[in-house]
Amino acid sequence: MIFGATGDLAKRKLYPSLYHLFNKGKLTKRFAVIGVARRPLSHEDFKAHVKDSVLTSIGSNDNIDEFVSHFYYQAHDVTDSDSYMALKKLADDLDGEYSIDGNRIFYLAMAPEFFGTIAEHLKSDGLTDTSGFKRLVIEKPFGHDLPSAQELNERIRTAFSEDEIYRIDHYLGKEMIQNIEVIRFANALFEPLWNNRYISNIQVTSSETLGVEERGGYYEKSGALRDMVQNHMLQMVALLAMEPPIKLTTDEIRSEKVKVLRALRSIKDEGIKDYFVRGQYGEGQIDGKSVSGYREEHNVNEESNTETYVAGKLMIDNFRWAGVPIYIRTGKRMTAKSTKIVVQFKDIPMNLYYSMDKPLAPNLLVIHIQPEEGITLHLNAKKSGQGMETTPVKLNFSNKSVDGMNTPEAYEKLLHDCMRGDATNFTHWDEVALSWSFVDKISDIWESTKDTGFPNYEAGTMGPRAADELLAKDGFFWWPVT
Ligand code: NAD
Repeated sequence: MIFGATGDLAKRKLYPSLYHLFNKGKLTKRFAVIGVARRPLSHEDFKAHVKDSVLTSIGSNDNIDEFVSHFYYQAHDVTDSDSYMALKKLADDLDGEYSIDGNRIFYLAMAPEFFGTIAEHLKSDGLTDTSGFKRLVIEKPFGHDLPSAQELNERIRTAFSEDEIYRIDHYLGKEMIQNIEVIRFANALFEPLWNNRYISNIQVTSSETLGVEERGGYYEKSGALRDMVQNHMLQMVALLAMEPPIKLTTDEIRSEKVKVLRALRSIKDEGIKDYFVRGQYGEGQIDGKSVSGYREEHNVNEESNTETYVAGKLMIDNFRWAGVPIYIRTGKRMTAKSTKIVVQFKDIPMNLYYSMDKPLAPNLLVIHIQPEEGITLHLNAKKSGQGMETTPVKLNFSNKSVDGMNTPEAYEKLLHDCMRGDATNFTHWDEVALSWSFVDKISDIWESTKDTGFPNYEAGTMGPRAADELLAKDGFFWWPVT
């Protein structure tokens, strides 16, 4: 059951992903999807909507009629028990018709204020009372801060146990995010070096060129810290920094990630300015076109202090990472759309090839998350010709050129994982709670200091100058991401 079936997420991501799974034979014929949303639609209207979503996004129509024949619709008011009774009736009928054995996945793809209400009704109106498995997939944001996340969690836990809850962080479905642990733990070249003896710093950048578009109202209450850092950025850091799990099971991997989040140095009060920088874009140029500043966007307060950019220095106070800064930055209206991780290795103990005008470049491992997917290793080699001059060389691996095809969308993998009952690439409550408690300390201070000097970066740039200074005072600089 997809709650929010006429929404943007369902249209752009969920239906195309289900269609891919169907065509790849990863869905048996024994499935039915009930779209649940407010507006009245017939089953036929809804099938046409799903068909249109798939055609718009994928452009292919192999088996499309057979695919959409599995879709049904239920007009629904999420606060009204009668709606749930009718939904239960439809679900029970389809269960018999398709021999689904009572297995149910409830996907909440709608505004988060309804998550708790829906979960409670699913239980009180008997939808979770089923002979098969029951799973709840829940979209971000999971709360607004730790207290609201706790409250939401308590409400959904009345109906679902922790191992039945699949909290989506779609970054965890991305091919190269899943590759982080393989790169680390399957290579003799990296595994022994992955610590404070050989790594000088790590940089994680997730930049967008888009502004807030139509989401001004939502973004005003969120900002980059809550929208990106609390979930995606901290998840990437946890995967980069975790200890090798003893086995590749959901529990073992999550437990190692949780330990990283517990070891994050907590930043308090005045100290925040030494570790975190916030920014808001002003007007500028993107791809040669003038764009307006954040405060001029639709549904945004003209004196808004909402941050559209965050840079931070994270310290993980454990044996492996003591002394190694992990820098993160994310923002809107930046120079390029790019998510990349740069691991900078320490300089070798003595440089035989040093000359005043040309120091040796450090070795870098760059993990390209999106839009490109791949790895680049930056090494030094001999410049061909006379003498022993060095030159930087790059070893490149690109996923696309190897597979010769686009890798599956994150949502496709995550939906399939949920159907198979694999929660590894979803966030456990402990991860959510630790991330919020880290982020809350920063947002508390930022919300109480209104003199922000915003806007402080021009659209089309890589963020405010203070973000460069954050690294410069440690003797580093941001490696370019374009
Ligand atoms: P949307 O506004 O496009 O869709 C909302 C859906 O909820 C519609 O189908 C609407 O009919 C339904 N709905 C609203 N109120 C209802 C009510 N009272 N009773 C029954 N149905 C009701 O939202 P969206 O962009 O699809 O986002 C859905 C969720 O996914 C949100 O939590 C959002 O944060 C999250 N999300 C969206 C995207 C995206 O790309 N759109 C990305 C990541 C996360």
